[in-house]
Amino acid sequence: MKCVASAKSLQRTLLALKKDGKRIGFIPTMGALHEGHLSLIDVARKHSDYVVMSIYVNPTQFGPKEDFKKYPRPQKVDQNLARRHGVDLLFSPGSLYAADESVRVTENKISKGRCGASREGHFDGVVTVVSKLFNIVQPDIAVFGQKDAQQVEVIERLVRDLYFPIKIVRAPIIRDAKGLALSSRNRYLSTREYNTAIEYAGVFNEECHSRKPVPTIKRNLKRRLSKIKGLKIDYLEISNKWAYVAVVIGKTRLIDNRQIR
Ligand code: AMP
Repeated sequence: MKCVASAKSLQRTLLALKKDGKRIGFIPTMGALHEGHLSLIDVARKHSDYVVMSIYVNPTQFGPKEDFKKYPRPQKVDQNLARRHGVDLLFSPGSLYAADESVRVTENKISKGRCGASREGHFDGVVTVVSKLFNIVQPDIAVFGQKDAQQVEVIERLVRDLYFPIKIVRAPIIRDAKGLALSSRNRYLSTREYNTAIEYAGVFNEECHSRKPVPTIKRNLKRRLSKIKGLKIDYLEISNKWAYVAVVIGKTRLIDNRQIR
């Protein structure tokens, strides 16, 4: 696996491959890799000949009271995981923001509501950094997890509206053995908080698969989740037969979504 920090050297490598007709697959991440991230490598591999993963903790998508500073950055472990899982090139740039940067990208529709409502400016940070990364890597396809459902919807809109010639591929959510959606933030959970998290994941799963009418599912979810000690519901929404949830356990915010069946 090639490890690259500079955009120029990444582009030199990729230009040669593109001349050979190779399809470039791209997976943007913030690192602290887990099985969810690694599953995206398999998906990218199916759609491309050369897999590029980026690890960049993007400051502009964190609110002032969020965890940018303490976000986990286990560099060496991540490198080993990416290498063992078949990434061809790992891109870990320094800051992608010039000291006097003055251009940002914004999204004004899909990013409203759900996570956008409680994380002001978050999705503008996401579309800005993803635009930068798309321009640097210029991939043929890019893989995003369904875990961050609103994020992938926003990215699809970004690609459409700014004419990025990139196919966006959605990858399914990977969960742990107890049904909790994997997240880099799960490592913040104490044992007690983890038990709370699996209780919430269990309720979410059960209700989404209860085959009851949508209003009943919503009512039951609200009632059952609000009974869980140590958990606060940030939002719970059901639209087009998909349920979206965000909860806060201790200081950790977790999100999930499921198709209603
Ligand atoms: P992050 O490092 O949190 O920015 O996530 C990088 C990519 O991994 C995003 O496209 C996420 O949606 C995806 N991802 C994170 N967790 C999971 C998961 N449990 N299953 C599948 N994809 C995931």
